[in-house]
Amino acid sequence: MKKRSKNPTRSRTDQLALARALVAMRDRVKWLLDFASRDLSSVTEEEIDAIRWPLLTFIYWPNGELEESASELRAVVPAIYEQEQPSRRSPLHGPSPESEVRRIQNLLREGMAALFRGRAFLSGKKVHPGVRRNRDGSIVPVTLESEEARLFGSIFQILMGLGPRLRVCNAPGCGRFFAANRRGQQLYCRSACAQRVRSARFYAAHHDDVRAHSRARYEGRVRRQLGSRVRIQRHPRKSPASRTR
Ligand SMILES: [Zn+2]
Repeated sequence: MKKRSKNPTRSRTDQLALARALVAMRDRVKWLLDFASRDLSSVTEEEIDAIRWPLLTFIYWPNGELEESASELRAVVPAIYEQEQPSRRSPLHGPSPESEVRRIQNLLREGMAALFRGRAFLSGKKVHPGVRRNRDGSIVPVTLESEEARLFGSIFQILMGLGPRLRVCNAPGCGRFFAANRRGQQLYCRSACAQRVRSARFYAAHHDDVRAHSRARYEGRVRRQLGSRVRIQRHPRKSPASRTR
């Protein structure tokens, strides 16, 4: 009888999750900024998994150079577990991936917000420089860094690549991070936000017109009911100060 892996279902789930992660990685920049802006107040275990795996690819494939193909995919999952030595175990593989995902999102948000306040975005994880001797006698540099330091290393590469294209949506109450088009002055993260600002501006500019229009409609309605000669009283607007008196 052929030996079966300990938990085939789990590994299949992992492969599917990773397949999704790689699809997401086609646009790492967009994925990362969406993750930073995403509301995680109520997410399912499956949704956490769908975030955890792309984050893991940031650690293991910092440049996103992995081609998406079935054979490579099959190689990928064991590779992750092989690299995952207990001493360097990724917090994303820990007992509570959900709280890890939230913690990393927090660091990412705070870090990017710091950039817009003219401050540095630091990962807070130490990198230990060192050297190693090869068989031919050459001594080469090695760095020991935690998985988290590698994760943020990848993130910093992406942010450096974005440069001035990294923006915060200007629409009131939005504040999402987004990557602006290569050309032009994009102020809002999506057309819905731009439209909301346009409507608010239009309303502010035409506020009196809107009031006059609704007044005219009201008078028309009253006249149809009570006759055209009726006098319609105009209630004085109460100011906030008079209301408290
Ligand atoms: Zn927006």
